[in-house]
Amino acid sequence: MNQNSRRDFLKLSTLTVVGAAALGRLMTPSMAHAQAGKKLPMVAESEPQAKALGYHVDAAKVDVKKWAKKGGADGKTQNCGNCMLFNGGKVTTDKDGPCSLFPQKLVATAGWCNSWVKNPAAK
Ligand code: SF4
Repeated sequence: MNQNSRRDFLKLSTLTVVGAAALGRLMTPSMAHAQAGKKLPMVAESEPQAKALGYHVDAAKVDVKKWAKKGGADGKTQNCGNCMLFNGGKVTTDKDGPCSLFPQKLVATAGWCNSWVKNPAAK
């Protein structure tokens, strides 16, 4: 191995390590679990935080008298799948995904809670 090819090898190795480290930082907890062959547990409606936020696995079954936001003008279209806090803001057709309010757990794409914020990337 001459000096130029050794230098090229070291540059490529460094870039590979830096790239792998950056990719690791971009992975969501669910992606990391998927790579490990595991799936994160689902948020249960009975959990204290879920109860406090009015989380329901089926957005259509939310008590709109109790949760005025869901009963508002655009309430019928609100669900986890079009919430900014769902799946890192990326739209997905998966039936569940991570929510930044519930670390290390998944919420139903068809779910809803009172912290819903419109995701401009969702239709
Ligand atoms: S914050 Fe958004 S994604 Fe998370 S549970 Fe509430 S509505 Fe669903």
